[in-house]
Amino acid sequence: MTDAEELAARVRDGELRLYELEEHADAETAATARRRLLAEETGVDLESIGDYTFEAADAEPNVENMIGAAQLPMGVVGPLPVDGSAADGEHYLPLATTEGALVASVNRGVSTIRRAGGATARVLKSGMTRAPVFRVEDVAAAGEVSAWVREHVEDLAEAAEATTGHGELQDVTPYVVGDNVFLRFSYDTKDAMGMNMATIATEAACEIVERETPAELVALSGNLCSDKKPAAINAVEGRGRTVAADVLIPHEQVEERLGTTTEAIAEANTRKNLVGSAKAGALGFNAHAANVVAAAFLATGQDAAQVVEGANAITTVDAREDGLYASVTLASLEVGTVGGGTSLPTQAEGLDVLGYAGGGDPAGSNADALAEVIAAGALAGELSLLAALSSRHLSSAHEDLGR
Ligand code: NAP
Repeated sequence: MTDAEELAARVRDGELRLYELEEHADAETAATARRRLLAEETGVDLESIGDYTFEAADAEPNVENMIGAAQLPMGVVGPLPVDGSAADGEHYLPLATTEGALVASVNRGVSTIRRAGGATARVLKSGMTRAPVFRVEDVAAAGEVSAWVREHVEDLAEAAEATTGHGELQDVTPYVVGDNVFLRFSYDTKDAMGMNMATIATEAACEIVERETPAELVALSGNLCSDKKPAAINAVEGRGRTVAADVLIPHEQVEERLGTTTEAIAEANTRKNLVGSAKAGALGFNAHAANVVAAAFLATGQDAAQVVEGANAITTVDAREDGLYASVTLASLEVGTVGGGTSLPTQAEGLDVLGYAGGGDPAGSNADALAEVIAAGALAGELSLLAALSSRHLSSAHEDLGR
């Protein structure tokens, strides 16, 4: 009997639980044993899920009860020239997706941007937030706690920053609702997306708040952060990186490359992305920024659930005398080049393709650069889809490429 078979038998006999296998075997054997059990239970052959290239032990910080890996097709767009505050030069952007036609469409936008001389991009604001909620007696106490916090941000920073070698507390903003006090902590997390870092640092700061004020902590996350939920606060105040990209495309290039006119794209943007989104009560006023954000997140090891915030983007298009001006501003793009899933082999290779794997010099510059390239990629996606809609070419492109 192999080690995996023996482990599986011990789970079947009730001697071990599914999540205890790593205590009795290496990660690879534990995953094999779980596949065996699952195959027996469900009758599903797990050959593909069990066929992966990385070491199971390397994924231990990323997943529990591991059985294997989900594999996605990955394409690439580029070269995409980006003149950023951190990103510089031509980039190949890997995109992992199952949506046929997406990579081809984004690549058409990329080649249009390249022909026009490239995109400009800037990270305009950076801050990962965590907002614990405290219980107080009444609104008078809430006012007292808020005032104390405003006067003691430096003390809170000292406690928070003692937990991290990289994170810096930028600000703490109190919000009061009756006998609830929310403190929205914002951190410069450098090259880390920073959600673990900010949570650990905030917990340390909360101990000071509880010691020095009448506030009692109820939950370390009070949803005003706001993580992985659609929320206007992120669209207005930003979370992670607030990043914008723009381009000016001569009119004749719009016609040559995108098969439509500047005026048609501008009209489609106004009526669809602005008026349509307003009527829908949307937070994102864009065509499909989430498509590029999601595919880039999967290719580079970001937290996929944060595509929710990544979709908070506004696209503008102007018909100017010298060409079509287009911009995309992503209010809350949460990205990192260290931590989370960024060091898994395929995702680290994805970051390497961009040239921004690991910590930057100075710290934070790699994550800034990643944000700027994703913003430029989102701009390419917006241009191409708006062009397809303007020239009424969308369904035929999907029929040709996606079916
Ligand atoms: P992490 O993997 O927990 O930590 C990354 C660490 O890398 C930092 O804390 C920092 O250590 C270190 N580091 C080394 N070089 C750095 C550099 N150049 N810049 C910044 N840090 C550097 O990652 P995280 O970004 O804090 O959190 C991301 C993870 O949190 C993801 O796995 C995500 O799925 C998960 N997540 C957690 C929560 C939560 O509530 N806890 C919520 C959503 C997502 P030092 O701090 O010691 O300097």
